[in-house]
Amino acid sequence: MTQLIVLGLIVAAVYAIQCLIWPFAACRSCGGTGKHRSPSGKAFRSCGACEGKGRRLRLGRKLFGGR
Ligand SMILES: [Zn+2]
Repeated sequence: MTQLIVLGLIVAAVYAIQCLIWPFAACRSCGGTGKHRSPSGKAFRSCGACEGKGRRLRLGRKLFGGR
């Protein structure tokens, strides 16, 4: 049982470090492009969920005080 707890702590620590090095993930709404294409594919508008940045802050980074 103790081994499970230690394993969980290691996984949490690795995840926390990853969130510090790579704080962003691709926006779920636009898939990281930052824009939504019109059906024709020629026009597009900025993604509202990520404000056109195409990225979102990962949950782990939010927990560690990132913006
Ligand atoms: Zn987006």
